[in-house]
Amino acid sequence: MEETIFHKILAGEIPAHKVYEDEHVLAFLDIFPLAKGHTLVVPKVFGETLLDLSAETISSLWQGVQHATKKIKEVLSPEGFTFGVNHGEVAGQSVPYVHVHIIPRWADDNGGSMHSIVKNPPSESIEEIAALFT
Ligand code: 5GP
Repeated sequence: MEETIFHKILAGEIPAHKVYEDEHVLAFLDIFPLAKGHTLVVPKVFGETLLDLSAETISSLWQGVQHATKKIKEVLSPEGFTFGVNHGEVAGQSVPYVHVHIIPRWADDNGGSMHSIVKNPPSESIEEIAALFT
């Protein structure tokens, strides 16, 4: 398994600006922030994507997201947040170590909602797609 930049940050081999840490996760400022306080949360147990993590790790990861969000709210008082996971290369995942983006939001910050990320509505009806899951 190839070492990623996040392995090195977790090992303290390259510096990062810590926002929150506990025994399960590290949250640190994104080096190319999309907004003030843009933070990444990584589990201390490696997985490339969400599908590689145990239930326990997923649980502690999202608890870590909540703790980091509280901290960012206290410090920067944003009006909202966008949480994001670029899952797989095609979805924009550039670091193959699972991580959750916490992006603080303010009114008129030139951002959009989840609905602005992908414009690929299906040609099938919702009933046809639902049938695939039954
Ligand atoms: P992805 O595109 O994989 O969802 O997000 C990876 C994020 O990691 C990017 O937003 C990028 O700015 C951030 N990043 C890449 N290298 C470093 C680094 O060395 N330090 C920090 N703090 N963030 C990094």
